[in-house]
Amino acid sequence: MLVSGAGVAGLTCAYWLRAAGHTPVVVERAAPGPQGGYGIDLSGSGYDVAGRMGILDRLAARQLRVDSVALVDAADRITARLDRPLAEKMLRGPYLGLMHSTLEEVLATTVEDTVEIRHRQSIGTLRQNDDDVLVAFADGTRERFDVVVGADGVHSHTRALAFGPEPRWARRLGFSMACYPVPDVAGCTDVRAHYTEPGRQTVLYPTDTVGTSVALFLYRSQRHGSIPRTERVARLRAAYRGAGWHTPELLAHAPAELFLDELTQIELPAWHRGRVVLIGDACGALTLSSAQGASVAMAGGYLLAAALAAHPGAHTDAFAAYQARVRPYVAERQRRARRFTRGLVPATRAGRRAQRVLTRLVLRDAAAPLLRFGFGDVGSILPNPSHYPKERQR
Ligand SMILES: Cc1cc2nc3c(=O)[nH]c(=O)nc-3n(C[C@H](O)[C@H](O)[C@H](O)COP(=O)(O)OP(=O)(O)OC[C@H]3O[C@@H](n4cnc5c(N)ncnc54)[C@H](O)[C@@H]3O)c2cc1C
Repeated sequence: MLVSGAGVAGLTCAYWLRAAGHTPVVVERAAPGPQGGYGIDLSGSGYDVAGRMGILDRLAARQLRVDSVALVDAADRITARLDRPLAEKMLRGPYLGLMHSTLEEVLATTVEDTVEIRHRQSIGTLRQNDDDVLVAFADGTRERFDVVVGADGVHSHTRALAFGPEPRWARRLGFSMACYPVPDVAGCTDVRAHYTEPGRQTVLYPTDTVGTSVALFLYRSQRHGSIPRTERVARLRAAYRGAGWHTPELLAHAPAELFLDELTQIELPAWHRGRVVLIGDACGALTLSSAQGASVAMAGGYLLAAALAAHPGAHTDAFAAYQARVRPYVAERQRRARRFTRGLVPATRAGRRAQRVLTRLVLRDAAAPLLRFGFGDVGSILPNPSHYPKERQR
């Protein structure tokens, strides 16, 4: 089996495929080393999969230095605050705040002795027939695989090859985001601070490394497609011209090349075609405002491997079972993420004022069920382990 993409979904899937007795090969476009200089919350299904992989302790030891989320005004006053106990009530369980690169690193070290990962390699073309898939790699080599798993993220190349070009499946939400590391800012070293102006938000949070924080920018935008790396800083500065709070200082730290992308959800009528199947952002990107993309990516990788184990030699049945389990869950979370994003960054001054009043009212224990409804219940979709024959053998 071939897995394209050594991200959260691909590495998790490879781990569980190996555990079920397969010999997966993973190809990863990037060189080895940390990727994804931004924070993620791991909760629900993702937290549960991490538990079943035995990596929770290693992850917990490297959590972000953040204990609460604070909405702040231009003078750095906190207007509303979400502390961990309330967040756990809202999420119906524990969560870990991590750098995305930390999660990938821990997953990679967990599989490195048992799974072959080929870095700086990617799929060039795919040709399927009844018996297998002939893969021509970017370096010109060719190999046959019984199944190809596309785990290569929101702009998946595997998806483009097997299902068609991205615009067919992409729903742009009308927002863009950018992020990069910055030096710690005094007074913002134990909270994730959100500063909102009409149509744009600046977020600042400390990483797991003292001295380094992340600045994240989320703003309403027209569709722009992929912006050349050399133009991104200018575009970001233009979008935040005149912005208050620490924004000018954070923009001054922008590196020459930064991560900037449109918020994009992926919606496909089917997640498998022939012997090719998709997992993670490649088939169900939720966007960062769901705060569940990594968790759902881990769950997808795990549940695909479990379905293949439950349907030996019958990949079509396995793919259908996997899709039936995960796709409705993802569709619901995508719907909630769209609504949540609009509320997170209101377009007008009146909307921002309403947001302040509302957050003061609802960020309290008694409103946990309401918060859960608004944000999305992140309860786990993992079945009881005993449902899965191969897992029972572990
Ligand atoms: C700023 C930001 C904040 C976020 N916050 C959260 C959060 O709080 N909580 C949360 O759960 N999620 C969050 N997410 C989303 C989360 O990071 C993703 O949903 C998750 O990483 C998806 O995992 P994946 O493995 O499907 O894709 P990715 O993590 O994107 O991994 C895809 C991998 O495929 C590789 N690849 C790409 N193309 C190719 C190719 N052609 N050939 C080979 N390899 C290829 C990439 O290099 C990468 O390693 C956030 C995302 C961003 C950008």
